[in-house]
Amino acid sequence: MRPIKAYINLSALTFNLQVVKKIAKNSKIMAVLKANAYGHGLVETVKAIKSVEGIAILTIEEAVKIRKAGFKNTILLLEGLFGAEDIHEVEKLNLNLALHNDQQIEYLNEVTLKNPINVHLKINTGMNRLGFPPDQVDYLIENLNANPNVSGITLMTHFATADEKEGITKQLDCFNRVTNNYNFSSSVANSAALYKFPEARLDWVRPGILLYGASPFDDISAKKIAVKPVMSLISKIIAIQNIKKAQAVGYGNNFIAKEDMRIGIVACGYGDGYPRHAKTGTPIFVHNKITKTIGRVSMDMLYVDLSEIDKAEIGSKVEMWGSHISVDEVAKNSGTVGYELLCNISASTRVPLEYVDG
Ligand SMILES: *Cc1c(COP(=O)(O)O)cnc(C)c1O
Repeated sequence: MRPIKAYINLSALTFNLQVVKKIAKNSKIMAVLKANAYGHGLVETVKAIKSVEGIAILTIEEAVKIRKAGFKNTILLLEGLFGAEDIHEVEKLNLNLALHNDQQIEYLNEVTLKNPINVHLKINTGMNRLGFPPDQVDYLIENLNANPNVSGITLMTHFATADEKEGITKQLDCFNRVTNNYNFSSSVANSAALYKFPEARLDWVRPGILLYGASPFDDISAKKIAVKPVMSLISKIIAIQNIKKAQAVGYGNNFIAKEDMRIGIVACGYGDGYPRHAKTGTPIFVHNKITKTIGRVSMDMLYVDLSEIDKAEIGSKVEMWGSHISVDEVAKNSGTVGYELLCNISASTRVPLEYVDG
């Protein structure tokens, strides 16, 4: 077996949930577990955080697994129904549905349900991804109120720039303006809004990335927020090369040695979810020391500078990200965000997940 593994620290996960709960104060937590819990494994994650009031995912298949894991609280399908045929399964599993287009309202009108469904009416307050225009909200609520298939309404929106300078003011003002006249519960905050904007916490908050111990911000680290990394991507050195000044390393001769140096070849590449665009100089932890990657990441391997780590040898442990190297740092060096790197581990079929406590 290749030596690569992603260790999932379940106690860090429950720790982060406590951090999020503290920030959220009295808001209920809708933990976002889409994309296989951001690469951490859906069912194990559910079991570790089962005290939350709600879990948000995308598909019925995920919901089935969550119910099977024994979770009895609210489950929300964040994108609602993808077709009319799923509605009876939604009823059977007692799921909440996001409602974001006319077609989905049709699906609700065309059936007679024994057990009516809770809907989260999604309002497009400026992100222009999902949701109804603000000026349709009154009309929609009137109709949903009259629909016997609907048991309850939550009002919902999603922010485009909660993690950026622009913030949420414009979108939150819009949301408040169109929902002010109603007494329904509301749900607007992702991790960034939850952390930075108390006025966005409302009845429900929808944290994702913070639970996994990474940061939604460019300029505020996970450490500063005091969440702990849950995933550690670990492998080993499988070869060592001693190269001379001016010799090149890897595809494209992308790295040229400025002096004689010792380099390590690590069994981890973009086929495992490590970003191919990680620049030379991306931090990586080898044999208990932080060093840097060099050259271009290959499908199955990458290169590290061992000049300062004499003790490293074949078999030495390497952490690509985890408790010593933040996934956000690797992301910054690769032109992406921690979210993508974590999700890519789940997309890869080559990295086994191993669950550990502490
Ligand atoms: C993914 C998602 C979230 C969670 O976002 P984080 O930035 O990971 O906290 C919340 N709400 C919606 C609608 C989402 O799609």
